[in-house]
Amino acid sequence: MPATQFTLDDLTCEWQERLDSFPADVRERVAQTAERHRTDLASHFYGVMLAHKEAAQFLSHEQVKTRLSRSMENWITNLYNSSEAADIQSVIAHQTRIGEVHARVSIPVHLVLRGARLLKQRLITYLREELPERQAAEAAVFAATLIDLAMEIMSHAYTTSHDRRSRAEESYRLFAVTQNMASEKERQRAALLDWENQLMFDVAMNTAAQHLPRLSASEFGLWFRHKGAHGFEGAPETELILESMTRIDEMLLPLFANRQSEANPTHTMQLLRDLREQAKSISYHLDLLFEQNNELESGRDVLTRLLNRKYLSVVLNKQITYARSTGGSFAVLALDLDHFKQINDSHGHEAGDLVLQQVAALMLNRSRAGDYLFRMGGEEFLMIMVDVNDHSAAKAADNIRRAIAAETFRLPQDVTMHLTVSLGLAVYNGHPDYQQLLRRADDALYEAKNHGRNRVVIAPE
Ligand code: GH3
Ligand code: MG
Ligand code: MG
Repeated sequence: MPATQFTLDDLTCEWQERLDSFPADVRERVAQTAERHRTDLASHFYGVMLAHKEAAQFLSHEQVKTRLSRSMENWITNLYNSSEAADIQSVIAHQTRIGEVHARVSIPVHLVLRGARLLKQRLITYLREELPERQAAEAAVFAATLIDLAMEIMSHAYTTSHDRRSRAEESYRLFAVTQNMASEKERQRAALLDWENQLMFDVAMNTAAQHLPRLSASEFGLWFRHKGAHGFEGAPETELILESMTRIDEMLLPLFANRQSEANPTHTMQLLRDLREQAKSISYHLDLLFEQNNELESGRDVLTRLLNRKYLSVVLNKQITYARSTGGSFAVLALDLDHFKQINDSHGHEAGDLVLQQVAALMLNRSRAGDYLFRMGGEEFLMIMVDVNDHSAAKAADNIRRAIAAETFRLPQDVTMHLTVSLGLAVYNGHPDYQQLLRRADDALYEAKNHGRNRVVIAPE
């Protein structure tokens, strides 16, 4: 964590200090008033939000509404009733989670702040009505301070997750746009070599140190800093390349200023050797990046060539946004091979791998062009079926189940075998959080396993 970021301890201290700056009886009165009116505060909040066209988009769903009212009431209670350090920490952690959910469903921050303002106003009105004048003013400040603190933490969590998500989206875009990794790789290797040649030439021509070509400003440097580093974000090689680049530009190249080629040729030779080493290391790490990117890092699973879970959240968010704007629907199908461990045990791990590949191929054949297929890990797959309704999704799921049960799987040495799969199907129900959808599919899969396997269980709405 960067040093500039508040830690949980810092926040708890600050929260405690704010609490301590108000008299206990004022805090007590605010807690009582908030508690007494919590139902009204929550219903006022959602009443106004539902009447707001933009906000209503995120709340129209019945399930969200009923659940949210209750959790809003609890939120109010917890906010004003926590004074012990442990309680404060849990309140803070809760604000962080709320901020993360807001980010996941992309609720605009101004709507959240608007909600906070509504609550403050309403609560302060109650305090003015019910408290003696000498207490009311201070109580109002206290009531507002805690809501502000909560908002501050929520917004921080929101921005952090939002940034993370935008980076994932950007790298997904890059992945989708960069059609041909092989040619990009060749182009960048050549660009790196061009820079090196130019540098050698300029050194030979005794160009002044400050005019030697900087790697970060070269074609390669520009590409890597602006695109490559994003596309390969998170890989250790990315950091190494960036470090080498800085080392070359800021440490090695300026050293040429001291060179006196004739007087001190070894110095120049040594510098050139260092440069060579750094450039070679960049080229080596770049190769590694492209290699990984062809498989794992590109979002594809090495064994089955299906997508891995890297882009699952991006794809699901896109589908939810699309469904919301078109009124269409989609479904998530979780699939797990039955008794797969036995296949490994009796035929070996490689046979197991072959089976996984054949299952993947079969699912791919059964999917339509707009569908997405993920290998979630192990012997578990996930299919996102687009443009389906309850009925067609259930039918497609059962078709996959039957196709796999009917398939003859081929193992080495002409061994053949049959196997079954269990499936959990969740059709999008309007809930804005994709994790809820995944959870429903998972729970349904679990049910399918518990009820004898080789079946599809449809998650309740
Ligand atoms: P269930 O019907 O309850 O799903 O039983 P199961 O045996 O399929 O499930 P379990 O989770 O007990 O075992 C999964 C096995 O999958 C264990 C692991 O060795 C195997 N497995 C996971 N990943 C791979 C892989 O990449 N290749 C192979 N060959 N086997 C794998
Ligand atoms: Mg299994
Ligand atoms: Mg499993």
